[in-house]
Amino acid sequence: MPSSTTSPDNRILAVAVPVPGLGLLSYRVDGTGVVPAKGARVTVPLGSRLVTGVVAGVAAPSTARLKNIHAVIDDEPFLPEAVVDLALWVGTYYASGPGDALAIAMPPSARAGRPTAFRTVRIIEATPEGRAATDVRGPRQRDALSRLTAAPAGVAMADLALADIGHSTVQSLVRAGYARIREDVSERDPFSAMSGLSSRSLGQAQEPVRTGNMAPGTDRVLTPEQAVALAFIDERFQAHSSLPVLVQGVTGSGKTEVYLQLARRVVAAGRRVLMLVPEIALTPAVAGVFRARFGSRVAIQHSALSAGERHDQWHRIKRGEIDIVVGTRSAVFAPLERIGLIVVDEEHDASYKQDETPRYHGRDVAVVRGRMENALVLLGSATPSLESSANVDAGRYERVELRRRIFDRPLATVQIVDMREEYAARGPDVVVSTALAEAIRARLSRAEQTVVLLNRRGFATVVFCRRCATTSECPHCSVALTFHRAARRLRCHYCNYSMAVPTTCTVCGGAFLEQSGFGTERIEAELRALFPDARIARVDRDTIRRRGAITRVLDDVAEGKIDILVGTQMIAKGHDFPSVTLVGVISADVGLGMADFRAAERTFQLLTQVVGRAGRGAVAGQALIQTLYPDHYSIRAAAAQDYAAFYQQEREFREKLDYPPSVALINIVVKAKTAARAMTDAADLARRVRAHHPHGRVLGPAPAFLAKLKDEHRAQFFIKGRQRNAMRAALLAALDERLDLRKRTIVDIDPASVI
Ligand code: ADP
Ligand code: ZN
Repeated sequence: MPSSTTSPDNRILAVAVPVPGLGLLSYRVDGTGVVPAKGARVTVPLGSRLVTGVVAGVAAPSTARLKNIHAVIDDEPFLPEAVVDLALWVGTYYASGPGDALAIAMPPSARAGRPTAFRTVRIIEATPEGRAATDVRGPRQRDALSRLTAAPAGVAMADLALADIGHSTVQSLVRAGYARIREDVSERDPFSAMSGLSSRSLGQAQEPVRTGNMAPGTDRVLTPEQAVALAFIDERFQAHSSLPVLVQGVTGSGKTEVYLQLARRVVAAGRRVLMLVPEIALTPAVAGVFRARFGSRVAIQHSALSAGERHDQWHRIKRGEIDIVVGTRSAVFAPLERIGLIVVDEEHDASYKQDETPRYHGRDVAVVRGRMENALVLLGSATPSLESSANVDAGRYERVELRRRIFDRPLATVQIVDMREEYAARGPDVVVSTALAEAIRARLSRAEQTVVLLNRRGFATVVFCRRCATTSECPHCSVALTFHRAARRLRCHYCNYSMAVPTTCTVCGGAFLEQSGFGTERIEAELRALFPDARIARVDRDTIRRRGAITRVLDDVAEGKIDILVGTQMIAKGHDFPSVTLVGVISADVGLGMADFRAAERTFQLLTQVVGRAGRGAVAGQALIQTLYPDHYSIRAAAAQDYAAFYQQEREFREKLDYPPSVALINIVVKAKTAARAMTDAADLARRVRAHHPHGRVLGPAPAFLAKLKDEHRAQFFIKGRQRNAMRAALLAALDERLDLRKRTIVDIDPASVI
């Protein structure tokens, strides 16, 4: 008999535990215990603790003395096998380890290992006696009972309370035998909580008559271009093509309609659809359109939902009650089975990259999931990422193009306003150029709407002393504090520290504090001064703190209750407002000053997207772009809405300076209590990486752009090259030699930004 070491012992399991950086651990299933399935949760001993882990599969045979699994939580896989495999891939690729990666695949409440508890709601319903009753005493009880009788499925206690019907009234009815209380599993429907569904997102109600007055739930007649795109993609779907398809369509070309009609075919073929969207602000809109077409078999998953809502939706998906999941980044791990199609809408968007461990890119994980589960992957954008276009060039992705807007509406005409001339003519304090002010005035007189973008919030970006020139810095970070006028505070945009605005300089006591630089709050104030009668709203992180706030503002814009909408990049994307005919960009170059290799790409994308908000209705659009760098290629290409021109220039730049997608890049940041310590540790780690990867390129270390963040000093180095696996392996080997640094080191594979 061959020894058992050649075949794996299925009583030894690999378990992922929620400890950062730790690999899979092996545990034994004791004696006669049931062997839990892959994807089931178990509790296992770890040191002196018991932790909840997930079974990742059968482990390699071992002669070591292994600990036993303490308890099996799930009789069946809790996570589908495919999701376990996907999370393990993420843990390896992004070097986070399996525990952190599996944790994001879990619904919120399952992480602690609690059995999956549904929240229940108390429902009050009338009994048959209650319905027949004619002798109810007291107006309160009579009122309550008539409400209950009118609601055959009963009324939630919370809703009765809203109608001023209290517990004591309900109790009296129950005691009289006229009503009873039951506990229902709550399937909170996040749609019902979103006012965004009211009109705008259900859609098409805002369209001019010529689009046809269809119910939102009906498919539209496709334009010839859409029909060609759909036929192409459908053919790939039928043929089980493994190549992702980049759907490159100008803003307003009707990409969503193509996704919708494709989704219908996929669902008809018995498969399911995963639709990823970038922004929470956009989710209700896209989700609403899908819901209007496909009804209650659509689920929504994003981080702004309460834990309870996410939990309910997650379990509906897992129970197979859902055909279509619409969600943000982490929805890529949704427990959806039989996936046929994965759509990544606005695939270039930076919010797909998670900025904490595991630092995964939702788009790239979607591509991997598609490959693992044999689903077609669509990446949609008007401004594809350099990576995706390069993948088309390399033959790894296919591309379909939508070059025209629906009904051949023209793209907005764009004018660049050179702010150097404006400053020369009107002084250095100008923020709204004469040209933009006039264009807005014309819109106000015609009852058309304007969108004004400035990708920086607050009132002033710096406060400094005119006597000693000290600027107000965050005590915890190496950045200036931003002045927020309404809140009367200086605030750090990195750690959220804030302080009252000082009246005198904190260093020299001088009484001459000056402000400079401006953000959205200042723009709003300027516009109010210029146009006192205009209805102006502002959308940025300061104004939309409260849940639902952004949807309310966007609804107001859609309903024509707002004349001018001011905001940061939140207002640039996705929204479809037919009455917006003017877009103004205040400082197009905000992002260009950043020492980041993606600065030009971000600028191009943002400008193209925001210009795309103009002229989506019957009236042609206009855009004015204010800038100090009118000749920069990202600004010129955005003004011409010429993706090809931008791509070519940017590709050359990345090639010349050896940045992605020409090479693979890993960004490593080492944090320490002092700047010196951060530098020495980073230098030591970099030296070790070089030793493990002698032919690779290791650049740095240097102090990070944010040299101090939340009281931690940061030093940074890069690994560049063409062999990502070797680069990662060298880094992990170096970290294994300096285990003490693991907790203080950020490893970012394929960074979205290096600052
Ligand atoms: P994109 O996502 O490409 O920017 P959208 O999907 O938002 O474009 O479409 C722009 C507008 O055109 C939307 O209001 C959409 O409802 C409408 N639309 C899309 N396809 C059609 C069609 N075939 N017929 C009429 N209207 C359409
Ligand atoms: Zn700070």
